Amino acid sequence: MSLPLLVCLIAGFALATLVVVQSVRARAERRGYQAELAACQGKLTRIVQAVESASDAIGIGDMESNSLFHNAAHLKLFGYTVAEINAADEPAVLFADKAVAQQIHQSIRAGCSWQGETDIKDKRGRVFPAFVRADIIRDPSGTATGIFGVFTDITERRRQEDAIRVSQEQLRQTNLELNEAVENARRLARAAEAANEAKSAFLATMSHEIRTPLNGVIGMTNVLADTTLTAEQLKHVRMIQLSGESLLVIINDTLDYSKIEAGRVELAQQPFDVVTCIHDSIAMLSPRAEAKGLALTQVLPPELPRSVIGDAARLRQILINLVGNAIKFTDRGEIGLRAALLARSADRCRLSLSVTDTGIGIPVTAQDRLFQRFSQVDDTNTRKYGGTGLGLAISKRLAELMGGTISVESEPGRGSTFTVTLEVGLSSPKDHGHGAGAMRPASDVAPAALASSPALAKPLSGLGERMPMRVLVTDDNVVNQHVAMLTLKKFGYGCEVANDGAAAVALFERAPYDLILMDVQMPGMDGLDATRRIRALTGSRQRPWIVAVTAGALEEDRLKALEAGMNDFLNKPLKPDLLQASLQRGYEALHSGPTDESGAGNTCA
Ligand code: ADP
Repeated sequence: MSLPLLVCLIAGFALATLVVVQSVRARAERRGYQAELAACQGKLTRIVQAVESASDAIGIGDMESNSLFHNAAHLKLFGYTVAEINAADEPAVLFADKAVAQQIHQSIRAGCSWQGETDIKDKRGRVFPAFVRADIIRDPSGTATGIFGVFTDITERRRQEDAIRVSQEQLRQTNLELNEAVENARRLARAAEAANEAKSAFLATMSHEIRTPLNGVIGMTNVLADTTLTAEQLKHVRMIQLSGESLLVIINDTLDYSKIEAGRVELAQQPFDVVTCIHDSIAMLSPRAEAKGLALTQVLPPELPRSVIGDAARLRQILINLVGNAIKFTDRGEIGLRAALLARSADRCRLSLSVTDTGIGIPVTAQDRLFQRFSQVDDTNTRKYGGTGLGLAISKRLAELMGGTISVESEPGRGSTFTVTLEVGLSSPKDHGHGAGAMRPASDVAPAALASSPALAKPLSGLGERMPMRVLVTDDNVVNQHVAMLTLKKFGYGCEVANDGAAAVALFERAPYDLILMDVQMPGMDGLDATRRIRALTGSRQRPWIVAVTAGALEEDRLKALEAGMNDFLNKPLKPDLLQASLQRGYEALHSGPTDESGAGNTCA
């Protein structure tokens, strides 16, 4: 075989091989492109599906704002087909505000995307708010090829925002109104407080002003009753006495109730003897019961603690009211006071005190309102029995202040039982009762207990001889001076008189007195200042023994007097038995050497 033939053969073979290789390679390459194309198509399909099924409206346009494509949500939101949008007169057909459309167009032209909230308009002309985002579509080389717009209907969000705004506004308005109401309530409270203070001040002043002349009327009537009178004259004097005393009860009740109502009553927390307190109340009223032929009895169980901590004067006030009413509304039979120990702990106990009578009774229908102020079962009672209708209201408030209650059981024609419960502290935990027996008539009351009650001290003739003292009366009111002088005279005391505080100090400097009856409110130097001056002169709180005699009936009046250095406190109208007890206290204190100088233990009327 020749070389050229061989070369031709080899070349032919190589060429054939090359053709085969090339066709194999071309086939392989074709297969690769098709797979890539299929993958691209799949991707494209998914992208189109995603855009189609998006809930936001999506539109694609060219750089001249010609619409090329929009998804189903776009069609639903605007109602336009692509062709309709392109056929529209103006390119900004979708925007309610053409200026915004202009802005977006300019932004895209400048190569920037745009986003914001604006009103858009559908095919039917409905305008609604949307969030619009317009982005530029770029090819791989970065050249802008189209616009991609997304529209989100924010009608619902706006509605919610509006609702929130409205409720915020309502809330703000309500807050304003609330603040106004609170401010109004504060203003009213301040006004009420001021009115209340004015009322209390008015009552205190009125009570003082009324008590001063009443002191004269009652005092002079007492003096007059002690002179020689015909039976007829004595009857008239007794009527004046009774009327004066009734008037005094009304003034005291009114003042007391208004003080309680204004929250100005603070209960004392001092040791006292419950049994003595009950004895005192009963003994005070026994002459009245006797006068009506009523038996007055008391049941004090042996376990009743003797020494308790509380307000003896206020408990006495409740008992006197209940027993006083029982006597007032009973014509036949008896009145019984029964005490019981309801519960006790190491340092406190609950007591109940019941007052039972066999009197006129109270219909069930009237029982509820008994404890309201100015309430009386029957108006004719006012005329027949007198009274203000305040006693039970006061007792109820006092019982509540003592942590207790007051209640009534009654049957018309058969009688009533009023029960008060209260809580007191125990001053001696070992106190296991007073050991007294059952049912004891009031007349059995221990003499010691009676003697401890100033109200019950029997007038002693010749007191001035047995307990001699130099006495000074200080009062600016001539009638009051007279009443004090005559009452002192009855007890065997002479006295000198000063018309005001300055005169009292001057007289005291000249010749010291043992006991001074000192009016508190006086023109010029008042009783408090005069007392301070006298205390400064003597340096002693015990000598002279200074007794405030005042128409001011408030607890703070008493405290002011004690603070100024007075030793004892008597209310006007001056009651002879209370004055007598005070004179005795003064004499005993002056002769007992150094004692408690606080004056806190003194009995105040
Ligand atoms: P006052 O006795 O000053 O009228 P109270 O508040 O003490 O005021 O009593 C109110 C009313 O309750 C009395 O007017 C009377 O009608 C009735 N009342 C109180 N206690 C008794 C009683 N023991 N028996 C019958 N009625 C009573």
